[in-house]
Amino acid sequence: MIKSETQNLAAAVKSDFPFFANNPDTVYLDSAATSLKPQAVIDAIVKYYAQYGANIHRGVYRQSMEATEIYEDTRSTIKNFLNASKDYEVVYVRNTTEGINLLARTLGLAGKLPYTAWENGLQKGDVIILSESEHHSNIVPWQMISDRLGLEIVFISIETNGQLSMSSFEEIQNNLKNKCVKIVSLSKVSNVTGIVHDLEPFKSYARQKGALFIVDGAQAICHNTIDLAAMDADAFVFSAHKLLGPTGVGALVARKSLLDKLPPFLGGGDMILDVTKNATKYNESPHKFEAGTPDIAGVFGLKAAIEYLGRVGMENIYMWEKTLTKYCMEKLDKAGVYLFGPSITDLEKMEKVGVVSFNIPGIHPHDVGTIMDEHNICIRAGHHCCQLLMQAWDTSATNRASFYLYNDFSDVDRLAEAVQYVKKIFNK
Ligand code: PLP
Repeated sequence: MIKSETQNLAAAVKSDFPFFANNPDTVYLDSAATSLKPQAVIDAIVKYYAQYGANIHRGVYRQSMEATEIYEDTRSTIKNFLNASKDYEVVYVRNTTEGINLLARTLGLAGKLPYTAWENGLQKGDVIILSESEHHSNIVPWQMISDRLGLEIVFISIETNGQLSMSSFEEIQNNLKNKCVKIVSLSKVSNVTGIVHDLEPFKSYARQKGALFIVDGAQAICHNTIDLAAMDADAFVFSAHKLLGPTGVGALVARKSLLDKLPPFLGGGDMILDVTKNATKYNESPHKFEAGTPDIAGVFGLKAAIEYLGRVGMENIYMWEKTLTKYCMEKLDKAGVYLFGPSITDLEKMEKVGVVSFNIPGIHPHDVGTIMDEHNICIRAGHHCCQLLMQAWDTSATNRASFYLYNDFSDVDRLAEAVQYVKKIFNK
């Protein structure tokens, strides 16, 4: 029943994505790396260049003013999409990576912030809490600032199935009783296991310590509804390209009370109110963080992507992926493939989006990926920018198939057939 209902979702949307007409017979299973773009998004980008053309903010003529209005209005579109209250503000960035770098860099320069652990700026010995399942984007920027300021990074370890280990977290809490924890930064959804992490205990701990609670939303934003009001993060970061939008644009959605106290990230045009030979008066947030001409066309595309997803319905996407994921895991399991992350029985008790990591025993993931490509199947092979997770699993790489609204059961069938073919070639 679910199968036929949800199959209709893929069938209903597939023709919206020109990729499939341009790449007939291709199975795209790499949406966790980047999603395909519907025509509506491509049209919105073209519309900016073809119809408006002008730069924003500075023009006193119609095209510039209208483009400015759409660019500024998109901040509300994003806030509505995330159920962010008026306490939050949207800062455009290039991607999740830049958003986290913005936070790490400006927090490194910040003084007192409206959080009890932040009476002073970051001091030597202060602690940042991350987890072993973070993407490098949520590790390296913090390491860079830690190296400069002598901070300590503590990693919550993972269970074998990729869940954040609560016993490791308990131990960390005991060890850090007398330490000043300033930042807790975690991803809501893993790009390798697809697990939707329950971040509530980590947020409560951050609150108890008077620390900042930051959420990497790169994978969370595209698969299900986000309720930022309930998540109560101080900052949530995402990239447009994961949710059907263009590459080169994303957003940092953060509490205005925090942004107001942070220094600017980059200097230049648009982020100032007044410049003299001796000093510059900065613009207010969010503009103080947006130096130079931004990706205007990208913002047009992002708005179109959010509107498109709104028409499809995020819950429909989540339910569809859930069905496809289970089907895929069962098929791969039957094909003798090793599944990383949650097991099939785990699916009963945990939330997981359409990301399946696996290895064919005895065959290097890159060989698998290359042979899949010969069969017009796009999957990923590598560490997926999660080397700490690979180290925890004692492997260097996995294969990863990731689904989105345009995939269907036949894509999984093709993947499973190709697995059998690879095994035959390698005599496994
Ligand atoms: N965080 C997670 C969980 C991701 O999956 C990714 C990208 O795959 C990123 C951060 C980085 O996103 P971007 O490369 O768009 O900055």
